[in-house]
Amino acid sequence: MSRTLALNPFPDISSEATVPDLFADILRERIVLRCTTPLEQAIHLRLALDDTLQPEGFAIENREGAICLRGTDCATLLAGMGHFLRTSQYRGGVFVPSTWRGVSHALKPIRGIYFATHFHNYFHDAPLAEVNRYVEDLALWGYNVLQVWFDMHHYTGIHDPAAQAMLERLRNVLAAAKRIGLKTGIGVLANEAYATSPVNLRADSNTQRAHYKVELCPSLPGAIEQTLSWFDEEFRAFASIAPDFLWVWPYDQGGCACENCKPWGANGFLRIGRKVGELFKRHFPHGKVILSTWCFDYGTPQGEWEGLAARMGEERAWIDYILAGCHEMQFPEYVLKHGSPGNLPLLDFPEISMYGMVPWGGFGANPRPANLQLLWNNEGARVAGGFPYSEGIFEDFNKVIMAQFYWSGRPALETAHEYMTYECGAEVPELILQAIAIYEANQLRSWENGDYSPPYTKCLMPEDKGSRRAVELMQRADADLPTWARTQWRWRILYLRALIDAEMFQSNGVPPDTCEPWFHELMRIYHAQHADIVVAPPTRETRRRSNAAL
Ligand SMILES: [Zn+2]
Repeated sequence: MSRTLALNPFPDISSEATVPDLFADILRERIVLRCTTPLEQAIHLRLALDDTLQPEGFAIENREGAICLRGTDCATLLAGMGHFLRTSQYRGGVFVPSTWRGVSHALKPIRGIYFATHFHNYFHDAPLAEVNRYVEDLALWGYNVLQVWFDMHHYTGIHDPAAQAMLERLRNVLAAAKRIGLKTGIGVLANEAYATSPVNLRADSNTQRAHYKVELCPSLPGAIEQTLSWFDEEFRAFASIAPDFLWVWPYDQGGCACENCKPWGANGFLRIGRKVGELFKRHFPHGKVILSTWCFDYGTPQGEWEGLAARMGEERAWIDYILAGCHEMQFPEYVLKHGSPGNLPLLDFPEISMYGMVPWGGFGANPRPANLQLLWNNEGARVAGGFPYSEGIFEDFNKVIMAQFYWSGRPALETAHEYMTYECGAEVPELILQAIAIYEANQLRSWENGDYSPPYTKCLMPEDKGSRRAVELMQRADADLPTWARTQWRWRILYLRALIDAEMFQSNGVPPDTCEPWFHELMRIYHAQHADIVVAPPTRETRRRSNAAL
């Protein structure tokens, strides 16, 4: 067969006028990254929106000599583009377009991700262009909402230059998400306050949960008015974004333990939360309010769940969703027994970042496919979607597992296989998946002095379930990867985890010098040079700082 080269070495991608120009670039960039060999014949791809594809979905089909990718809206078109990219082949650097044809509809309407922007973590400090590209990557896996929080307590007021800088950064990231058709949201603590809040209006911080000790008590005269004036300023600051969602959060931080606010989740929280929710809807009439129940009845039950359910008749008007979930990787018992208060749609809040490993991301990637599958088996059928909590990019793998649960309920191991093939270029993903099972079995560890009580001198490691075997598996996989894949961050953070764990086990948990270059590489990948110790890889310098912090 004769070899005929197309004039254009890569696919010709066109899009309808209603599809942002950026979309063709998003697709092209990712094909070009994986391909080194020109096409043997021209391939035409066409991107289009089609709202007849309801409910939310995408279609891939042959039309007039082109492969046509359609989506109900921009977010579903991106999900379809992602599916197309991942089911295409790139073996030997040659692009072979996906042969998948058909229609796929989203299982869950709210496929959100929460970026925590604090502690100088990745979302706080990485270059915006990098963060914005990362948002595109997540949209290709099916996410359709980006959520952030402007955490007032760091600042003296909205005019504090540091507050303005953070607002500017958050607006930039949300605007980039909006440009590609994602919905956006902001979060608030119901009784949130700035560092300089009036001392005479402050809450009783004895909530038995994390508290900044500057939040206000809504039972004190003038406190609600003060809170609303701060939120009015904040919502004005987000006017150009016009967020689609507001999270109203009860605790950790926030809350008030005084007699007049008790039990917080069914009393003071709803009193002030309602005012905040109504203010948000006055600013953004299309907006929806998500009431969080984080840490409800935490420790000693205080009747918060029952109380919330009992008040739903009067409160239902301003609440659109209930967000449930807590530190433990399972739904609250109340929800499992009684369902959602007021039968409002439920959203989950999976912990994919911080579980069993401090510093978060400090030992490389933390993939947890088996655990997330258990979580989904338990709560998947009950939710309308959710918002995994993210402290950075080290749990990219976990985000993707959750995205595909929300899109189709797809089993974690199937997604894991596709991730290794597409994101890491592996031809034999099974080797990597075996290593990941070892990582997951070896994950839980803690520092001798306590995870949040540095100095970090010795890490108490679990019984080693095969860290040397994981190194062997990852080295074999590494040797077979194409260059583009072997050097990119998703692979490096997975690979370094094997090397670091094996050395940590060998040294009985005292970080050895052999790990130092790997910790530094993670530091560069995360842009964690200025990060707080909970999100900074434990280099010698970080551990010295952790010592000083004590
Ligand atoms: Zn109070």
